[in-house]
Amino acid sequence: MLKFHQMKLEEVEQTLHTNITNGLTRKAVHKKREKFGWNELSEGERPSAILLFFNQFKDFMVLVLLAATLISGLLGEYLDAVAIMVIVLINGFLGFLQENKAEKSLQALKNLSAPQVTVLRDGEWQKINSKEVVPGDIIKFASGDRIGADMRIIAANNLEIEESALTGESIPAPKFTEPIAETNPPLGDLANMAFKGTLVTRGNGVGVVTAIGMSTVMGNIAGMIQTAESVMTPLQRRLDQLGKILISVALVLTVLVVITGIIHGHDVYTMFLAGVSLAVAAIPEGLPAIVTIALSLGVQRMIRKNAIVRKLPAVETLGCASIICSDKTGTMTQNKMTVTKIWNGGKDWDVTGTGYHLEGEFFYQDHKVDVLKEKTLQQLLIFGALCNNASVSVTGNEVELDGDPTEGALLIAALKAGYEKQTLLNEFTVEKEYPFDSERKMMSVLVKDRSGRRLIISKGAPDVLITKCQRALWGETVKPINDFIRKEVDGAVEELAVQALRTIAVGCKELHSPDIPQTAQEAESGLTFIGLFGMIDPPRPEVKAAVEECRQAGIKTIMITGDHVVTARAIAKQLGILETGKESRNVMDGQMLDDMSVQELEGTVEDVGVFARVSPEHKLKIVKALQNRGHVVAMTGDGVNDAPAIKAADIGIAMGITGTDVSKEASSLILLDDNFATIKAAIKEGRNIYENIRKFIRYLLASNVGEILVMLFAMLLYLPLPLVPIQILWVNLVTDGLPAMALGLDQPEENVMHRKPRHPKEGVFARKLGWKIVSRGFLIGIVSLIAFIIVYRRDPSDLSYAQTIAFTTLVLSQLIHVFDCRSEISVFSRNPFENKYLVWAVISSALLTVAVIYIPVLQPIFHTVPILPLDWLLVLGLSCFPTFLLAGSLFSRKNK
Ligand code: ATP
Repeated sequence: MLKFHQMKLEEVEQTLHTNITNGLTRKAVHKKREKFGWNELSEGERPSAILLFFNQFKDFMVLVLLAATLISGLLGEYLDAVAIMVIVLINGFLGFLQENKAEKSLQALKNLSAPQVTVLRDGEWQKINSKEVVPGDIIKFASGDRIGADMRIIAANNLEIEESALTGESIPAPKFTEPIAETNPPLGDLANMAFKGTLVTRGNGVGVVTAIGMSTVMGNIAGMIQTAESVMTPLQRRLDQLGKILISVALVLTVLVVITGIIHGHDVYTMFLAGVSLAVAAIPEGLPAIVTIALSLGVQRMIRKNAIVRKLPAVETLGCASIICSDKTGTMTQNKMTVTKIWNGGKDWDVTGTGYHLEGEFFYQDHKVDVLKEKTLQQLLIFGALCNNASVSVTGNEVELDGDPTEGALLIAALKAGYEKQTLLNEFTVEKEYPFDSERKMMSVLVKDRSGRRLIISKGAPDVLITKCQRALWGETVKPINDFIRKEVDGAVEELAVQALRTIAVGCKELHSPDIPQTAQEAESGLTFIGLFGMIDPPRPEVKAAVEECRQAGIKTIMITGDHVVTARAIAKQLGILETGKESRNVMDGQMLDDMSVQELEGTVEDVGVFARVSPEHKLKIVKALQNRGHVVAMTGDGVNDAPAIKAADIGIAMGITGTDVSKEASSLILLDDNFATIKAAIKEGRNIYENIRKFIRYLLASNVGEILVMLFAMLLYLPLPLVPIQILWVNLVTDGLPAMALGLDQPEENVMHRKPRHPKEGVFARKLGWKIVSRGFLIGIVSLIAFIIVYRRDPSDLSYAQTIAFTTLVLSQLIHVFDCRSEISVFSRNPFENKYLVWAVISSALLTVAVIYIPVLQPIFHTVPILPLDWLLVLGLSCFPTFLLAGSLFSRKNK
């Protein structure tokens, strides 16, 4: 039997039981799905839930504790043994819940950023998840797409595909549709096939799916390509190192507690169990899990704000961003283009109407014109509709657009004059297309009319297109381009651009030879300039405020656009990107960028607010120059050529709607709504997540310092044990559990966007965090000890009572201190009831502790005794002390 690459298209159709013009039917898809399954590569095993649960107990100190408990159980201390086991299990279960949640949300993220493909089914093109593709599906793809399955190519337009993932060859291979006779040519020679996982770098095409999932060439070598990536964020890495140091410190102090205790006459077994419990409580083993939770909760909040984080480290980097380089079209503007001006040979027309509506008329010097009488206007509108890849469907007066809005605007302008693309295509056949690319800034088609006349029609950026023109249509005659005409055209472009209009020029030439020009360069030369379209693209209303908010946060916004310098400047001014009075200094165009080295650019780059007329290559230069100046750069992009700059930026941002697969894969953040304001929201969230992580690091460590110190000082002072092991474990459970997690859900402080960006190298304990941890921790330890000493001195015979008082003071002082951790400034600067989760976490932890003291069955387990009402005053008073003593003026200077 012939192989797919050897077959004619009809044979491919028959073999795969499909129909090239209508695609598969829903029923056929269903049947094929049952037979062939999903289009996915089998993934490496994920850790099972049970494994994840048992992983919680593999920590060394937890194992020692379990062993010690077992021994105490064997020695007859059943109650203690069971209670400790239960607490360790609950702790493990909490850890398991946290990790499981983190794992699940990471998986959900992966699904969200799954690639999509455009497929023809039941006669209609539709976008589906690449996973749903079956053999026989007809798929459309264009430059920037990643091929979703193995395909036989049935239409190719300047198509080139980069197959280095499979062949190692990084130069893109041109693709065609003709059958290949050879049975087994090397993969690189299969010019009529496209393979899953490869990248379309130029042109566009259509293919029939021949294989999916593990049956594809990629599937065969999937084992080699699968890399289970689990990236740690810089903070996680730093905390990992810090964790090791903290463990050592905690262990040394614990050993000190145990040794002093033994020297001072406590029995070895009790001291050993107390020591191990203390080690378990004081070692912040929950820190990495809580950091992951805070990151993933933040990531979920970002999704709700339309930002998808693809790489977790980006969450942290977002908080350090000092520059946002953003595309203009679609990100800062609405990308809802409407043609409002048309210019030809010294004459300009106004077009009325807004957005995607058909109402609209043509005016010349305030007089309505009949388009049928204006030959050049007609020609411009028809050419604009023919050299066009978009399509529109009309219901009543509403128009739905499929394709590039710039092209859609041209179709709608033509429709307003009564020219419909589909009807025009009955008169003109398109023989070849030279697709748009943002480097050439042009697109052309070769069309043939009914009389056999063949025309190249080009449209593109006016300053580029005019250089390809030798003649111009002036009124109704064609004239050679001279200085006068050139000046007139430049003046007209400038006038449109000053009004913030996007400009598109149209040109054409007649072909007299029957040959088809193979390259765009050949086709786009010796043209006749026909005229100009000016279209509005209104700024997104929320962008101006977002730019201002970024400015207050010490983040500079730079607009980067392929559009005309004057248009870009006008829009930048509307958005407040250029400070008044500095405009001319703050705009740079692609030409100037070309003439500069990265080093030269470094000198001026910080003064530039707008880069206009740039091509994607320039973006890399801009990123590098800014980074060399010490900036943390966020850079947006959508096209295939934007990928290097997106990759090089500290935060690469891709567009969810208009972005290509390549740009999405290179990015660390995707904007689901393509909106600049979403970048600002993500940065705010990034700052908040980092602050929340700092909050619970502060809380956990201060608590641990308190726990260790109360024990250590008591031993040093020849006192009895202020806490029994099970109490230490309980303190750990109620304080490190819910309240710490609730801090991860804290709302940002009001001033989070009034501070300068964080320095990326800032240490974990920067901005006085270390001091706060030690000072508060010290006070927590001291007040618990004081409570213990007062009550113990009063009645040395009732040790359990004194221990209950110390235990309660330790728990409560930590539960009160948690509110202090919410602010970098002072506990008084925030409303304590704002974070409902925290309030409930604190209330439930406090009630559980009260239960442990008052419920008779729990008393023997926790070695507690009911506290007398008057002693509550002592406990509460002392518990408030650590938080409120230092909350006053001395340390409350604003941390800006
Ligand atoms: P951004 O602001 O996101 O960089 P842009 O649309 O301004 O996007 P490009 O898409 O690179 O940048 O377009 C550059 C220029 O090319 C535009 O100013 C316009 O004159 C021209 N152009 C844009 N789209 C088309 C198209 N489909 N066909 C022909 N010319 C186009």
